Amino acid sequence: MSERSTRYTKAVQGYLTEVGHATNVEVLEYLQKSYADVSATTVHRITTRLIERGKLAMAPIAKGNVMRFDINTEPHDHFVCSNCDMLRDTHIASAIRPLLEESIGDGCQISGNLVVSGLCKKCSKEMK
Ligand SMILES: [Zn+2]
Ligand SMILES: [Zn+2]
Repeated sequence: MSERSTRYTKAVQGYLTEVGHATNVEVLEYLQKSYADVSATTVHRITTRLIERGKLAMAPIAKGNVMRFDINTEPHDHFVCSNCDMLRDTHIASAIRPLLEESIGDGCQISGNLVVSGLCKKCSKEMK
């Protein structure tokens, strides 16, 4: 890996550590503030490699079916704001899962991470 590519990769990880979740476009916009010559292809290559190495996880997709990455690679649930698309890590208590399964019925079992949607504090204020 070239020195430049290492520098970009570090910057991508630093950015995601700060913001938690981001799309390739957001990563690109951030990187271009410091490195004007970074291309979308480079960003795509870096995030793909980080996913392969387990340094990034896939977050729930963003609006417009856009891939979104997660710096938190541990299993966790998400809250997503249906207005501004803000994503927040959350752990929905395991005690709630049996209740959800009971409501779903027919012996269906919940597996994997949960995504719940609604309005974030900022958006719910603006909507009033
Ligand atoms: Zn919002
Ligand atoms: Zn997350």
